[in-house]
Amino acid sequence: MDSGHNATKALGKVYLVGAGPGDPDLLTVKAHRLISHAAVILHDDLVPSTILSLASPSAEVVSVGKRYGAKGATQPEIHERMIAAARRGLDVVRLKGGDPGIFGRLAEEIDALEAAGIPFEIVPGVTAGIAAAASLGVSLTDRRKAARVIVVTNHQAHAGASPDSADWRGLIREDATLVIYMPGHDFAGLRAHLLAAGCPLDMPSAIVSRASVPDERRAFTTVGQLDKFPQFDSPAVLLIGRSLDRAARRADSGAALAFDQAELILSSL
Ligand code: SAH
Repeated sequence: MDSGHNATKALGKVYLVGAGPGDPDLLTVKAHRLISHAAVILHDDLVPSTILSLASPSAEVVSVGKRYGAKGATQPEIHERMIAAARRGLDVVRLKGGDPGIFGRLAEEIDALEAAGIPFEIVPGVTAGIAAAASLGVSLTDRRKAARVIVVTNHQAHAGASPDSADWRGLIREDATLVIYMPGHDFAGLRAHLLAAGCPLDMPSAIVSRASVPDERRAFTTVGQLDKFPQFDSPAVLLIGRSLDRAARRADSGAALAFDQAELILSSL
């Protein structure tokens, strides 16, 4: 009988996996193994094709992202898909960019799996802010300059609005490195909020777009000059803090060096 069959069928497991910032070499060995063995992969838009191509040819690979305003799966639909596949006895990889627990709706998915009695496991990944710091060549907790790292988003979907100056007040500290995910494009507005919250004009700031992938871009400025930042492709993270001093200086001298060399080449012609 059908019901007897269902009752004895083993449940699949759901792996909530971080895909890292984009470079397949930054996948964990465990993520790589799970991606290549999963029967079902439900992935966000941030996961590049270079990583999805590691899936088995027989795997069902489904995009559940909602980028570019396209009508993606709703959160309840994602929960239903994970649960239905696990009930069919299939192992599922729910693949998210970076680390699944950083601005990744992980908690809602855990709640849904727990409520349905589905076994699950979380596999961490390299989050974008950490990948950006590596690209910039800085330590976010350089102990001479930063005693803490504060991870925030400038896009608060649940609140329906960007944080105002009051929200930033507790976050602006001389001894903190602030890592802002989903910084948006209104850097003039952000500058105004940060300055109103007490951030000094000369506080170093850096943006890293598409960290870890071949078209990665980096730029340095100060909070006072934030409104003059060029537009960057998303995804991008914005970093603010004295721990960026060294990288900013290095970038300046690198640019100066490149300029000197250009002059030398010109003068030798
Ligand atoms: N879970 C992800 C974050 C998801 S929120 C993580 O841990 O990285 C999406 C935001 O992450 C983007 O808007 C951007 O701010 C940031 N992001 C993700 N990948 C990035 C990358 N390769 N380079 C720069 N920022 C990235």
